[in-house]
Amino acid sequence: MANGIQLEMNFDGAMGNRFKEKLDNGDFQVLVEVNAPPSETDLADAVARFSEIEYLVSAKREINAALAFTDRYAYPDSLDNVQFAAALCRTDRDRHLLCVSGRDRTLSEIEKLLGHAAGEGFKNIIAVSGESVKGDTLKQVQSRLFTESVHTLRSVREKFSASLFAGCAVNPYKYTPCTCFPQYFKLMKKINFGASFIVTQFGWDMLKLQELRWSLFRRSLHIPSIARFLVLTPDKAEEICSGKLPGVHISPDFQAMLRRETMHSMAQFEAAQWRRIQIHAAGARFLGYSGIQIAGLDRPGQINIMLNRIGEALHEFTGFEEWRSAYLEYYARLDMAPYPYRFYEFEDLFSKAHPSDMPRMAYAEIPPLEGGEKFRLNLAKKLFANADKLPAGERYLTKKLLVSCRACPSCRLPQTAFVCPETCPKGMANGPCGASKAGGECEHTSKECIYSKRMRIAAQDNDYVSLEETCVKPLERRRRI
Ligand code: SF4
Repeated sequence: MANGIQLEMNFDGAMGNRFKEKLDNGDFQVLVEVNAPPSETDLADAVARFSEIEYLVSAKREINAALAFTDRYAYPDSLDNVQFAAALCRTDRDRHLLCVSGRDRTLSEIEKLLGHAAGEGFKNIIAVSGESVKGDTLKQVQSRLFTESVHTLRSVREKFSASLFAGCAVNPYKYTPCTCFPQYFKLMKKINFGASFIVTQFGWDMLKLQELRWSLFRRSLHIPSIARFLVLTPDKAEEICSGKLPGVHISPDFQAMLRRETMHSMAQFEAAQWRRIQIHAAGARFLGYSGIQIAGLDRPGQINIMLNRIGEALHEFTGFEEWRSAYLEYYARLDMAPYPYRFYEFEDLFSKAHPSDMPRMAYAEIPPLEGGEKFRLNLAKKLFANADKLPAGERYLTKKLLVSCRACPSCRLPQTAFVCPETCPKGMANGPCGASKAGGECEHTSKECIYSKRMRIAAQDNDYVSLEETCVKPLERRRRI
């Protein structure tokens, strides 16, 4: 029987890309996240450890399940994920999703990885700029190279479009106008440069998941989206409640709920997590998501339970209204926004599943530039209008004084609203990472994220082009600070 299934799968795989076909046909998919083990792990041992999961996921016929391989995510230095995925998945490679991280990789190294993935028969990739390494000091972060996803997407479009289908990530769980809009502008840029589907950061606020779908609708973009959810352990719940997971912010009400759950027995705690996953999985489908990606599980037994529970949940509710009542009741109508930040882009979220006409935008207050900021910006505009065409060291001291110049090999100030991308610890030049704090401060410095500032400049100039469209070229190396 197992052989019969494999033969059928191989044949289908050779004919096309089943992950893409399912997105095109609106078949709801469930991706199980797999973290490549640390680099010192023997590949054969790693395969032996994960082979049961691979078999389980491949054999689940009643649900469209597949694997999503993370890259440089759970461990600072993990096995090459293409090599690991190829060793683990002898068949069905067109069903799975491979993440490609830009951390500590130049664009040419990324292109080599993409070529390897395509050569091994993988067809679906998700480009991410990469996460900071846990425990890195500010200086260590500043000396790492984060090749932004927009460049990976562009490479796929220009060099691998015949063999690879690419998507991108977004963090919709942002609660101030200055953190929320830049995420969407960057998303538009990624779509412009070739992202054909979206995977979200994980979170629990379904209003924010709906906000993302409505944002796409407002721009007449029909891009399939996959909602990522995390199955919690008591330790993970505590980490999140203490605000230790970058970019993950939950409300005080939800924190209290999670903390209550951690005081229960392990069996009760797990039961609460399965029920939560069921409610969120069903909700994602009603809100127009094409699938979900589940993180946080690495034991076959747990994954089996999770897939069965999700299978049940997808048939549990008759429609959006019934699901919405269950969701609100499950959370006892608690506020999911991380007080005091609670900006949502639209006014009527949750009034219906999908907007029939243009959804009403909520009022967004963007703090104006202060006097000193305005003065320095106007001066920079005058002095550095052509800085990208001059030797990078030209007027270095004035640049250092006005825009904290870090003496990059080439200057990109005119494309970045005269905010130096190297003042971002990760050197993001094309949009924010997902890890800013709830109020818009950088995860590493506690200063305002440079993209919150860029948002304030864009609002003042009424010019959002550089946030949404301009592709700012990458650096091949970063200057050590
Ligand atoms: S400045 Fe913004 S984009 Fe850069 S690392 Fe900090 S939070 Fe991320």
